[in-house]
Amino acid sequence: MSETHNAFAMAQKQFDEVAAILNLEPSVSEFLRWPQRELSVRLPVRMDDGKVKTFHGFRVRHSTARGPAKGGLRWHPDETIDTVRALATWMTWKTAVVDIPLGGGKGGIICNPKELSEGEKERLARAYIRAIASSIGVTKDVPAPDVYTTPQIMAWMMDEYETICGESHPGVITGKPLALGGSQGRGDATARGGIFTVREAAKKLNMNLDNATMAVQGFGNAGQFGATLGEELLGLKLIAASDSRGGVFCKAGIDAQALVQHKLKTGAVAGFPGTEPISNDELLELDTTILFPAALENSIRVDNAPNIKAKIICELANGPTTIEADNILHENGVFVIPDFLANAGGVTVSYFEQVQNTCNFYWPLEEVHQRLDEKMTKAFEAVYDMYLKYRVKPRAAAYIVSIARVAEACRLRGWV
Ligand code: NAD
Repeated sequence: MSETHNAFAMAQKQFDEVAAILNLEPSVSEFLRWPQRELSVRLPVRMDDGKVKTFHGFRVRHSTARGPAKGGLRWHPDETIDTVRALATWMTWKTAVVDIPLGGGKGGIICNPKELSEGEKERLARAYIRAIASSIGVTKDVPAPDVYTTPQIMAWMMDEYETICGESHPGVITGKPLALGGSQGRGDATARGGIFTVREAAKKLNMNLDNATMAVQGFGNAGQFGATLGEELLGLKLIAASDSRGGVFCKAGIDAQALVQHKLKTGAVAGFPGTEPISNDELLELDTTILFPAALENSIRVDNAPNIKAKIICELANGPTTIEADNILHENGVFVIPDFLANAGGVTVSYFEQVQNTCNFYWPLEEVHQRLDEKMTKAFEAVYDMYLKYRVKPRAAAYIVSIARVAEACRLRGWV
């Protein structure tokens, strides 16, 4: 069986499946299969050794039908226009599924941030904003952090944009440090939102989470908070975690917070006292209640999907499951909370950040948590209703909710 590993081809295939279920008019599906606008930019940056190196960046707007485009910016050596297109498309469905008045966008720069000094990162961030300034803004397209981009990078970018405009525009970028108009609760929002969806899924599936376990693939921002909040909010026992340098396993349980400290100190989860090494593939196939893929795309494929024993998969990562693997998981009774619902907490709090920036009035942490819980719970319920109504995979149910909302906005605007 051939598998779809091109992320954009996968995003289009997922869309096509649901367009057929919803019987979408061809004019709507032709329009929504592709991004509305794509920018490709060359970025000359003076490196520390005095030489100029040119980087390649992208900014893609998939849809602005429901509001300004919104989506992160990734710095990765393997970034491609197709990955950015796919992620921009998923952002459209993500903002729609949580029903916030935004569209979908994404950006990327092909680079290896691990090889860049702080000064080089700052110059690259500023060069990117100079190149795309005319097409971003609170009313157009609002970037945010993603893989290997940080609040500090967002701060440089906001500063560059404000310098170009000559006025204050804190809402042009979200995921900023608190001191520059960031929102309380943004740091762990993606994982917290995911944990809320796990809680709701367990309720609907009549699953008792007492003594439930979790395994986390990818122990970065999303994965670490997934583990600590899974423990704190749902009492889940962490039995395994991994990163790009390998994994650790302990059936009796791993103290998630202590593992975070170990990773901070050593740069890896490997070697955590009281655990045994485990490969990433073995981790995915563990007998665990909840599995959190929180690394990169295509971790769950036809070769390992049949061996997965988790009851619920909460996709904190974007695109961790191939379409074929998703079908196998569904047939095997694994309930997959799809990426654009499971990890929508991040963009939801980014939206809260923009709202606070616009009002110039900031909310306490408890208010952010409560509003996030409301949004995620409501989104999960809407998806679960479609899951029951159409008897489809949870991913298709989430697409049905999102695509129907975006298609309605396109029709109301008279675009299609
Ligand atoms: P991150 O860079 O903080 O963490 C990624 C982690 O994955 C790192 O620990 C890395 O070592 C690990 N990793 C890389 N390759 C691996 C492999 N082959 N096997 C196991 N681990 C591997 O990034 P993040 O922000 O946590 O993002 C992770 C995923 O979550 C991405 O798909 C991202 O798009 C998605 N996501 C993140 C956010 C957010 O707010 N952070 C929001 C939405 C979606």
